[in-house]
Parts: sequence; C-alpha cells; structure tokens
Amino acid sequence: MGEFELIRRYFQRPPPVGSAVVLGVGDDCALLQPSPGHQLAISSDMLVEGRHFFPDVDPEALGHKALAVNLSDLAAMGARPLGFTLAIALPQADEAWLAALARGLFALADASACPLVGGDTTRGPLNLCITVFGEVLPGRALRRGAARADDGLYLSGRTGEARLALELLRGGDWPGRLDAALRARLERPTPRNALGQALAATAGVHAAIDVSDGLVGDLDHILRASGVGAEILLEDLPVAPALQALPEAQRLACLLAGGDDYELLFTAAPEAHPAVLAAAAASGTSVTRIGRITASAGLKLLDAARREVPFTPQGFDHFA
Ligand code: ADP
Ligand code: MG
Repeated sequence: MGEFELIRRYFQRPPPVGSAVVLGVGDDCALLQPSPGHQLAISSDMLVEGRHFFPDVDPEALGHKALAVNLSDLAAMGARPLGFTLAIALPQADEAWLAALARGLFALADASACPLVGGDTTRGPLNLCITVFGEVLPGRALRRGAARADDGLYLSGRTGEARLALELLRGGDWPGRLDAALRARLERPTPRNALGQALAATAGVHAAIDVSDGLVGDLDHILRASGVGAEILLEDLPVAPALQALPEAQRLACLLAGGDDYELLFTAAPEAHPAVLAAAAASGTSVTRIGRITASAGLKLLDAARREVPFTPQGFDHFA
C-alpha cells in the first residue's frame, strides 16, 4: 500500500453536506467557508509517542484523543468547529492499527461536526499533529486575559481522574482500581465544545481556558493574563468517587495539578450566574462554581473555615 492509497483508504471521506468544507482531502489545499462576519480560531496540538502516550496505546483511543485535545482548545475559546487537518508520521503502514485510529478519529469528528479536510503523511517515529479550525463572532472569543475582579470562577465536570488513571497505569503505589470508566477519563477525554459555544454566547462570561496541564497551573495563565488573583474554596471542588479513597495529599495533587482533564475553567460576572447555569444545562454539561477572582494578585486555596491551605502547584512543562 503506497502513501496515496493509504490516505485514500483511511483518511479521505466526503465532507458532510452543510459543513463549511468547500473542498476537502485530495487537492493542494482544502477550502473552508466560514459563516459571514466570523473570525477564524486556529489551534495545533501534537501527540508524540513516549511523551504523550504509551507505545502500546489502543489506536482507536489515540485517534479520539488526538482530535479531542484540539477540539478542547476551540471549546476554551468558545469557537464552533469547522474542520481539521492531520499530519502523521508512521513507522509502518499497519492496516489494522490505521483502521482503528481512523475509527476513533472519525467517530469524534462526526459527533463534533468537525470534518478532516487535509493533512500530510510521512514515514517516521509515531507522531500526530492536528490543526483545528473554528469560527467565533468578533469580540465573543473567551480569552485568557478577560477575567475581572469579583467574577465567579467555574469548572466544568471534575478534575483528577486522568491523573489517577495515569498513576495506576504506571503501576506505582497509588491506591485504587483502574476500571474502564476511569481509564476512559485519561484515554478518551470529552471536549466541552457545546458548553464553550454556549458560554461565548452568554453575556457576562469573561475568560476561559481548558484544563490540560492541571487546574492550578492553568488558572495561573488566566490570572497572569488578566492581572488578577483568585480564591478557590477546596470543599466546593467536585470530587470523583474514584478519588474519594485517596490520601489527602494525593487527592489534592489529582484535583489541583492532575493534567489531561480537558475541562473548561472560566470566569463570569456575579450577575451572570443564572445565565451560566442555563448555558451548562442547555449543553448538558455539569458546571460548578469553585471560587472567585480577586483584585489582589495570587491564588489562595481556602478550607471550609476559610483558612489558607498550602499547596505548591506543579503544572506540566515540557522544558522545566
Ligand atoms: P502535497 O504533496 O500537495 O502536499 P500530499 O501528497 O501530501 O499533497 O497529500 C495529498 C492530499 O492528501 C492533500 O489533499 C492532503 O491534504 C491530503 N492528506 C495527506 N495526508 C493526509 C492525512 N493524514 N489526513 C488527511 N488528509 C491527508
Ligand atoms: Mg504533503
């Protein structure tokens, strides 16, 4: 099977009717038609074997996750997905492996109305780079620098399960059992696109980020970009059942510095609280108010008695 046969067999599918895709896979460029008056939102994420996934990862889950982490960036801006490209390096053309990868990829692409429109295919160490394209109305994108003092601080879903799953996969001394549901939180994350788009359309929602490197580390990006601080009420953080039996220090590490959560962390003016809950309900996504934005810089983690809890965040940094 040559390169072009491989592309045709696994990656070339007619774009869905009614999508923004005027011309998909097969020419020198794809052509996309955004809705009139919208801005393009563009993001790339690369997944490298040994760094982002284990060599023996289920290829179907890998296809899902490679697209999910990119869709999550569109969700964090409140942009509607239009399409994506896939650049892939493969050590060999293993047909069963490619078929499973394509299954995972296209299942999420179809569910998200985000068709594959082009890419590049080469031989090399396993590596996938996806670029997503989305659209958003001018002035409505949820930027990191838009948080304001007294905003409520909100989290979709809950953090920590992906980290616990990773620790259990690594086979360290963490207590717990790696069942399919917990493993899926690591290997098949759910990007929050419906919520992100609903929030971008909600007056009073200000800043957002997707939590990929840990709650505290990613919140810090919002705080620095916005020139504000925040308080998190630890007892208001949603805790997954799988995390409840963990010793306190490990539970906090999962909740606050877990990574790979792909939940949305966002801020909204106090008067927008009912509209935030309505956006959450309309998008079928749970949302919890976990704290607030403060005028003074820095992050405070508070216990039930509002005493400060010490915690040194370690967000993930490839070069730290
Ligand atoms: P070119 O040499 O003009 O860059 P290629 O031979 O790399 O074109 O690719 C041929 C067509 O297949 C192009 O439309 C390209 O976007 C598409 N393509 C290549 N690899 C992939 C892939 N992994 N997924 C989707 N489309 C791909
Ligand atoms: Mg090419």
